[in-house]
Amino acid sequence: MALTLTDLTAPQGFERLVLAQDPQAGLRALICLHSTTLGPAAGGCRMWAYADDDAAIHDVTRLARGMTYKNAMADLGLGGGKAVIIGDARTDKTPAMMRAFGEAVDALGGTYWTAEDVGISPADMAHAAEATRFAVGLSGASGDPSPWTAEGVFRCLRVGARHAFGTDDLTGRRVLVQGLGHVGLSLAEKLASAGARLMVTDIHQAALDDAATRLGATVCAPDAVFDQQMDILAPCALGGVLTRDTATALTATLVCGAANNQLADDGVADILAARGITYLPDYVVNAGGIISVASEIHGKPDAWRLDRLTAIAGRVDQMLTRARDTDQLPSAVADQMVHDMLTTRRAA
Ligand code: NAD
Repeated sequence: MALTLTDLTAPQGFERLVLAQDPQAGLRALICLHSTTLGPAAGGCRMWAYADDDAAIHDVTRLARGMTYKNAMADLGLGGGKAVIIGDARTDKTPAMMRAFGEAVDALGGTYWTAEDVGISPADMAHAAEATRFAVGLSGASGDPSPWTAEGVFRCLRVGARHAFGTDDLTGRRVLVQGLGHVGLSLAEKLASAGARLMVTDIHQAALDDAATRLGATVCAPDAVFDQQMDILAPCALGGVLTRDTATALTATLVCGAANNQLADDGVADILAARGITYLPDYVVNAGGIISVASEIHGKPDAWRLDRLTAIAGRVDQMLTRARDTDQLPSAVADQMVHDMLTTRRAA
């Protein structure tokens, strides 16, 4: 067999870091299991042209740890893990490579469940699934996770609005959705239906024209987001949009969106809090997609997905109440909630 798995030294606090190689199939991938304390590790597979192995290791470990937090907060009975395939998804990817990746996942014996992430489509995952039953997010099964992510963000945004403005009625509330992709467009539709004064931005003109015509949205240029007057910012494009500078310029009172890793660094959370801006941690509010994927892993019906979505909104409420009562950042409270869950489970 051409596939080899090599255990690398995992960073402290991580369970396992594996290099999977199959030169014949062109596969060079890293799979990281951060924690299986709450269940088998689950998290998507990303394909990216990393500059070197160190850059890939940095990304896969950071993402795997994030999945532990996301899966714990969403109460999915799953731990955190992630995979990255090193290469250009547009030019290097082949069905043979994806099958070899599936073999690598299979060799981990169910300690890691994979799904789509950046650069990997449901069709790619179907090739991986030819070699393993631990590949999910397949067409015809739980399907596209994005609508579930959007619904989760919308529900959490309403809870955040209740805390920030005293009401979750969004009528007339100025909400800027940054990024009209799979999640952002669905969120924008929900906001428009709820009566929000919608502002949108994207780098694709067609998406903006559609939102302006169909949803009555006001369009803003991608580089003018932080010049706008708004009540709520919903980042649904890229990570790292909230830097020390943009956090200082932001006019919103609430930030709630789907993008992963919205804060450029931890200090940004302090700047937002000092300016009276409530930031809802991304890994808490954007868990709808992994909830959908988890329903496929556990073989659960739609009702289970809806219960979990309702539960994350409830947890945001709990988190904001505790943050207010104890004078802490919501993100610090969320991290503590996950830490407590892991400690309790380890003790049990
Ligand atoms: P997507 O690729 O479908 O959409 C991203 C959109 O952002 C695109 O329309 C793109 O043109 C736009 N965009 C890119 N750069 C921009 C910029 N500088 N300014 C404005 N718009 C810009 O992605 P998606 O699936 O909708 O996911 C959106 C975000 O949510 C990502 O950060 C993703 O990691 C995160 N997320 C998605 C899911 C999911 O279920 N899809 C789940 C959890 C987290």
